[in-house]
Amino acid sequence: MSKDIFVYIEQRDRVIQNVSFELIGEARRLVAVSGGNVCGVLVGNNIASLAKEVVANGADKVFVVDNKELEYYTTECYAQAVTAVVRKHSPNAMLFGASTIGRDLAPRISARVHTGLTADCTDLKIDEEGNLFMTRPAFGGSLFATIACPDHRPQMSTVRPGVMKKVEYDTNRAGEIITEDVAIDATKFAVKIVEEVKETKAAVKIEDSKILVSMGRGLENNLAQVKNFATVIGGTVSCSRAVVDAGVWKSDRQVGQTGKTVRPDVYFAMGISGAVQHIAGMDGSDLIIAINKDKTAAIFNTAHLGIVGDATAIMPELEKEILARK
Ligand SMILES: Cc1cc2nc3c(=O)[nH]c(=O)nc-3n(C[C@H](O)[C@H](O)[C@H](O)COP(=O)(O)OP(=O)(O)OC[C@H]3O[C@@H](n4cnc5c(N)ncnc54)[C@H](O)[C@@H]3O)c2cc1C
Repeated sequence: MSKDIFVYIEQRDRVIQNVSFELIGEARRLVAVSGGNVCGVLVGNNIASLAKEVVANGADKVFVVDNKELEYYTTECYAQAVTAVVRKHSPNAMLFGASTIGRDLAPRISARVHTGLTADCTDLKIDEEGNLFMTRPAFGGSLFATIACPDHRPQMSTVRPGVMKKVEYDTNRAGEIITEDVAIDATKFAVKIVEEVKETKAAVKIEDSKILVSMGRGLENNLAQVKNFATVIGGTVSCSRAVVDAGVWKSDRQVGQTGKTVRPDVYFAMGISGAVQHIAGMDGSDLIIAINKDKTAAIFNTAHLGIVGDATAIMPELEKEILARK
């Protein structure tokens, strides 16, 4: 077994997903304690040219499985490719993004290599012997559980997007790119992709937005006003789960434990009470500004700036101030 930490490099339509770079950043911090290399595992069809990007984002090595069978993500095909690389190189740990693909793929691989998997982690620590301590919310976010996997390797975990920090992008960084020739057994495929239909998603992902204007149940009848406020200040509208459950705004805009983890420069929490499940997704934001009618609302314990009052009346005042200063 090596000391290396592997990161599954998730690409969709040959675009590497941000979470993979975040995980490389985290793996760098871990190997600084445990030793070993940070290695990306890049799988797909016609993707070899992406390996340089993985190195520039902090990987020491990239294992590339480039095979026409891997054009579309299917569980079996990708599981075969990644499992082969893991078996061959025996890393100490492997990290996946807790994305739809990562959540599907990671358990398959952990089962095939007979190890444990901690899903949806929000914090990782390692000791000098390479033991990984994986922390995740439990019991609806009311406590955090730290899980170790002392008897099996690799230690595996999925990590939520937006939680870990990337290292600085550096095209001068040196790294080794290794082509892995994996024989894919198509007779094992139970699923065949017949047609790919793409859902139109929000142009801006809330995880990538610098300014988020997040609305809660208190503003569920004021979506148009919130959208207008967000446009004026150059932000993106996100929301609490209450707003998604009410069918007012889309689930891919939900912040929190069962939504997205975000860390924008500025997070407006408007008409949001501040339940632990919501806080879990936004407390890493640089500046949190809460507006709530109720001065005892829990959100004020997390906010850096708090305004007590009716957000529908405060938004136009803020707009005027912000426009004047622009
Ligand atoms: C397992 C589990 C997972 C969950 N995951 C998530 C998650 O990912 N994300 C999430 O958000 N929640 C999640 N929840 C739900 C969470 O517990 C809360 O129910 C939810 O966050 C409440 O949303 P809210 O703050 O918008 O609504 P409320 O709690 O109803 O708060 C509304 C607030 O608006 C204020 N208000 C009303 N009118 C105005 C006004 N005009 N101006 C200013 N303030 C006003 C009120 O004072 C109140 O504080 C989860 C729950 C469970 C059990």
